[in-house]
Amino acid sequence: MKFGTKALHAGIEPDPSTGAIMTPIFQTSTYVQAKPGEHKGFEYSRTQNPTREVLQNNLAALENAKHGLCFSSGMGAIDAIIKTLKPGDEVVSTNDLYGGSYRIFTKIFENFGIKFHFIEMGNSSKIEEYVNEKTKLIWVETPTNPMMNIIDIKGAAEIAKNNNCLLGVDNTFASPYLQNPMDLGADMVVHSITKYIGGHSDVVMGCIVCNDDELAEQLAFIQNSCGAVSGPQDCFLVLRGIKTLHLRMQRHCENGRAIANFVRDHPKIVKTYWPGFEDHPNHDIAKNQMKDFGGMISFTLKDDSLEAAFKVVSKTKLFTLAESLGGVESLVGHPASMTHASIPLEERLKTGVTDSLIRLSVGVEDIEDLIEDLDQALNQ
Ligand SMILES: *Cc1c(COP(=O)(O)O)cnc(C)c1O
Repeated sequence: MKFGTKALHAGIEPDPSTGAIMTPIFQTSTYVQAKPGEHKGFEYSRTQNPTREVLQNNLAALENAKHGLCFSSGMGAIDAIIKTLKPGDEVVSTNDLYGGSYRIFTKIFENFGIKFHFIEMGNSSKIEEYVNEKTKLIWVETPTNPMMNIIDIKGAAEIAKNNNCLLGVDNTFASPYLQNPMDLGADMVVHSITKYIGGHSDVVMGCIVCNDDELAEQLAFIQNSCGAVSGPQDCFLVLRGIKTLHLRMQRHCENGRAIANFVRDHPKIVKTYWPGFEDHPNHDIAKNQMKDFGGMISFTLKDDSLEAAFKVVSKTKLFTLAESLGGVESLVGHPASMTHASIPLEERLKTGVTDSLIRLSVGVEDIEDLIEDLDQALNQ
């Protein structure tokens, strides 16, 4: 089955009790037992819920994986993955990382004796320098946030295999439509469903998919024990969102390309970060591992000051100033003061998040209106 067909049909059957075409919202916390221990596979909704189960199976299919698990947020999913580790274990992670991931690694899990190395992975062979016998996980985000660096997933997977550790990929920025890390050798894939998969800015949710039965069992144990599960109403909304994921992504990519070209040529802009440009340092890898280049774009201004950036992001009308990304509506963000405020200044500048860096999540509006809006904000 191809992607669009899977989005609509994989794991989804009409409800056997009523014939309802849409998966019902099983808004229940518990399930009747005929005799103690005799039930229909559902005991308590932290452990299993039929709406969640359909979504989990659909997500697994979208990433060409065997198992899917949903969590109350992307951070809930990442939390569960790190909880498979033990004190003394080490993680080699992308340095240009989602701010919340950096925060949970350094402020929560370092306290529990897990060591994180944050490194530049533009050349994946660099990972090898930091891998040792204590390394249990290589953590990759690609494209990265907000610098749109591209990391070679296949290269990272080979290093993980050779060193007996697992590769986890945060695939939020690409979405399963653009990139399937399991096919490239990843052991698990995480999404903040909040972003492209949900796509309508109305749900916070996360997921993990994997192939290994033992790993899936361990993650399901953590999901049930720690309890960061997604509710049935939210699962319904995400199932509904996924039905147009491929259509939305096509428009995100088309608009993204037009906006990237527009900002690159704009006189007020110095540098534009978008993996679709042929002179992007890892354009060839992006071309190999992604179907298209997405709708996430960052750029810096000639006037590299907070004031100049604040002016632009407060003058856009269609590009709404807000955190988050991947919804149908266009958003603009200022990483240094918003998503990346929790990263120390020195670290932030090292990765290129300067004062004037502005990030766009290009939505699915009409492209002429989006360009006009950006142009007037830049020319203020
Ligand atoms: C948003 C995001 C997360 C966290 O997901 P939440 O659903 O907000 O908890 C993790 N990784 C990336 C790349 C994200 O963009």
